[in-house]
Amino acid sequence: MCCYTHQKNSTAMSKAIMWFRNDLRLTDNPALNAAVQQHDEILPVYILDERLLRPGPWGFPRMGAYRLKFLLESLADLQEDLQEKGSQLLFKVGVPETMLPQIAQSYGCSAVYASKEYTHEELQAEEALQAKLECYFSHSLLLTAPDDLPFSIDQVPEVFTQFRKRVEKYARIPDALEPPNAIPTVGFASEPLPEMASLGYDCPEADQRAVLPFKGGALAAYDRLDHYLWDTDHIATYKETRNGLIGADYSSKFSLWLAHGCISARAIWHEVEAYEAERKSNSSTYWMKFELLWREYFKYIAMKHGRKIFFPGGIQDKAVRWRDNDKLFHKWATGTTGDDFVDANMRELLYTGFMSNRGRQNVASYLVHQLKQDWRKGAAWFEALLIDYDVASNYGNWMYAGGVGNDPRDRVFNTQKQARDYDKDGAYRKRWLQQDKRSPNAWFERLTAPIQSVSK
Ligand SMILES: Cc1cc2nc3c(=O)[nH]c(=O)nc-3n(C[C@H](O)[C@H](O)[C@H](O)COP(=O)(O)OP(=O)(O)OC[C@H]3O[C@@H](n4cnc5c(N)ncnc54)[C@H](O)[C@@H]3O)c2cc1C
Repeated sequence: MCCYTHQKNSTAMSKAIMWFRNDLRLTDNPALNAAVQQHDEILPVYILDERLLRPGPWGFPRMGAYRLKFLLESLADLQEDLQEKGSQLLFKVGVPETMLPQIAQSYGCSAVYASKEYTHEELQAEEALQAKLECYFSHSLLLTAPDDLPFSIDQVPEVFTQFRKRVEKYARIPDALEPPNAIPTVGFASEPLPEMASLGYDCPEADQRAVLPFKGGALAAYDRLDHYLWDTDHIATYKETRNGLIGADYSSKFSLWLAHGCISARAIWHEVEAYEAERKSNSSTYWMKFELLWREYFKYIAMKHGRKIFFPGGIQDKAVRWRDNDKLFHKWATGTTGDDFVDANMRELLYTGFMSNRGRQNVASYLVHQLKQDWRKGAAWFEALLIDYDVASNYGNWMYAGGVGNDPRDRVFNTQKQARDYDKDGAYRKRWLQQDKRSPNAWFERLTAPIQSVSK
């Protein structure tokens, strides 16, 4: 599973950094296991990338308040899990590839272990770090490592069905790893994790209409897995309910924890298979694995196409003249376009940081095909707001919606027909529009306000 391994130096005390990224867990974290196996002591580090706290190219934050809140909860949970193993987390705000070599020097660490990422900025950080330090990266975010697939990265099938069929036929999904028994750790003075306010963020009050009271961390992730499979059997009807819009259980909501790595896709996959073996196996249980393969596919598409997934013409190099109309965009983002199905979904996103897959497809299609706005601006708005933001899934799905991705057809959604099909009684639209006591404009201002000074 590791990209590289090396022999433990038996004479000198060897120390290494375990750099946590989007893998905030001890279970099934191959980078962590490798670091613990290969070194006498490790230093668990998380660096909140300060570049994500500044406005992005479209003027709104790269990481909005909803995601930051979930991230801090996930880090607090990781901190507790580390403490149970006799360890602790060193938290910093800064630029990881600059800070990690400094930290390594201060604490006498000779190497960095981390989970590999697959998108441009993250790869640039890895490259910069590798120029200064010995680095060992593991494929912890994937179901199957590239070397275990029957095709090279440049031959990754462009069409999902072809990708899925080949993975299903040839790939074996490795078992999830147990966490290390103990984590011998470099000594340092522990400091509490920061609050949202000390990072310059206004913490939005929870909206009671949200699908879940979102809570970050591995503990909450495994609770959710137990709930969806063993406690309620919702997994056994997932295929029929997954296009729902209201409530906790029409879909799994695993994306929140997967995006932050509180749980691995492999752990979910094998739990579904355990459920199939012990309780029930049907088209719904299969469909959960099918959807996890979509997530996998977009990671491989990102590996194959590199920076193109962020280009206006996407991986098709399509020449499209996108319009840039701030007023129209503002109406879309605040859920005030006049299309009630789009507006209800956009308000749910604005007030909670989550939206169903059905909603995401409709609002993306509307922005691109009705309003003719640049799909990348929509993707950046999702990046700012979504708790479950995942670079490859977000940009991959948005390219799809924009007609510049892996789907050669332009999929234009008829949002009013979709509303009739998926919100027959209008309950969803009523919930987010008629019963809305919040002001979408005020929320837009609040969530896009410049972040106050960051204390490091
Ligand atoms: C425009 C657009 C943007 C999106 N942005 C993101 C994003 O930033 N992060 C993200 O995780 N998903 C994204 N998705 C995919 C999908 O909408 C979410 O994964 C899903 O709604 C999450 O809810 P769930 O966990 O209950 O999903 P479920 O229906 O329960 O699916 C189980 C898991 O399968 C995976 N999955 C399901 N559908 C997709 C899909 N279309 N693409 C990739 N993986 C999928 C997710 O990991 C999900 O948790 C996007 C979809 C669209 C159309």
